[in-house]
Amino acid sequence: MGEDTVITVSGLTKRYGSLLAVDHVDFQVKEGEIFGFLGPNGAGKTTTIRILTGLSNPTSGSAHVLDYDIDSDIAEVKKQIGVVPELSSLYDELSAIDNLLFMAKLYGVPRDQRKERAEQLLKMFRLYERRNDPFATLSRGMRRALTIAAALVHSPRLLFLDEPTVDLDVVAARSLRSLITDLRRQDITIFLTTHYLEEADALCDRIAILVKGRIVKLDTPEAIKSSVGLDLPVEISLAAASQKFVEEVSAKLPNLQVVPVNNKVRILGGRPAEVLEVVLHSAKHAGVEVNAVTTVRPNLEDAFIKITGLEPIMMAVEKGDSR
Ligand code: ATP
Repeated sequence: MGEDTVITVSGLTKRYGSLLAVDHVDFQVKEGEIFGFLGPNGAGKTTTIRILTGLSNPTSGSAHVLDYDIDSDIAEVKKQIGVVPELSSLYDELSAIDNLLFMAKLYGVPRDQRKERAEQLLKMFRLYERRNDPFATLSRGMRRALTIAAALVHSPRLLFLDEPTVDLDVVAARSLRSLITDLRRQDITIFLTTHYLEEADALCDRIAILVKGRIVKLDTPEAIKSSVGLDLPVEISLAAASQKFVEEVSAKLPNLQVVPVNNKVRILGGRPAEVLEVVLHSAKHAGVEVNAVTTVRPNLEDAFIKITGLEPIMMAVEKGDSR
């Protein structure tokens, strides 16, 4: 495993009877990145996290986490990683700070460092004012934030976050995303599972799209969005209608649809950068002025639909039903 790689997974497979929950999955997570594991219900996200964090054994395949083989050195992996489960394991009746102190003890943080670390985390997660309040009395978003803080008491380099913002309201989810971005700035590598396309887009350096246990795409959000060749309309407003312009653009972009409508021309498909270059060149050549150019950028949702053939709404609906 390379120096910059914190997780290496090869041929990882988990079978439940006849069901392949995780089906020969390969990927690497690089030091310092937020790696998104994106997929609908039942795609195998949680199963993969459970294997990588030592809660479940793979049927076949291998994985290295922080240079340790999960097969032979899982105890060491568990000591060194942070894991935020979907459901918090903190104690309702204990205060925010006491929960952190307790977790610090469990993780073997030296006694004389526990209080300082707990207070530092409470401040980082904007919970310091509420430090003496019992966990149960905190808001849902605060409880989620404290659960993440608890996974960081021993200062792990690698954090597993399973659906961090599920069931949170918009404001709490946004606040939590900004906390996650802060963690990344502190060079903590984050393995994040999520249903939310926008969340993955906003937070992740790279995203693996998982469908039925298989990775169907793995790349940066930008590359995923631009790789799928979506039918992006680019609309050119010309000072006057120009047949010459239309002919020239059509000749240079033979695979795209070029549709003149009065003094506007819509071009469908193709990368905006490439289209714009041809448009500007052809306009000059045809002696017509370009008044305006409008493009619609694809979002991850467009890409997701193209890649998986699934409707993104499915993910939202299933998520609401299942929790
Ligand atoms: P979700 O977003 O709903 O959490 P997921 O992507 O995390 O979905 P997994 O929980 O990993 O998906 O489940 C993958 C598949 O494996 C599902 O079909 C699930 O029903 C199945 N599965 C998971 N755990 C078990 C188990 N202990 N026994 C049998 N089948 C299981």
